[in-house]
Amino acid sequence: MEETLWATVTETNGFTVAEMLAQRLIAADIPAQAVQESIGQSFAFLSGPLGTAYVRVPEQFLDEARALLDVDAPADEDDIIICPNCESELELDDPEWEQGWFLCPVCETQVSLDDLF
Ligand SMILES: [Zn+2]
Repeated sequence: MEETLWATVTETNGFTVAEMLAQRLIAADIPAQAVQESIGQSFAFLSGPLGTAYVRVPEQFLDEARALLDVDAPADEDDIIICPNCESELELDDPEWEQGWFLCPVCETQVSLDDLF
């Protein structure tokens, strides 16, 4: 059996949120796991609810998982976010969602996605 390649669907602030999202994916028959940053999943429960965590799925489920979690985002907002600095409406690319921050093309401010949600 080949080793599964896990891909990060999203990054969350805290393991609890990551676990909630993972459960939502699992409920949709997508094998997902919540992982705490740099510690490894077996220690996730020991490290507590704080810190950066990740929701991961096998690579082949990545698009499906992203689509599913987007569907659950507030209606007609999808990938559109509002820059907190200049209030421009911006559409983020996947790499920007993955890295958790973006550079506003209008006001050139670096914005953390954690500050928006
Ligand atoms: Zn801006």
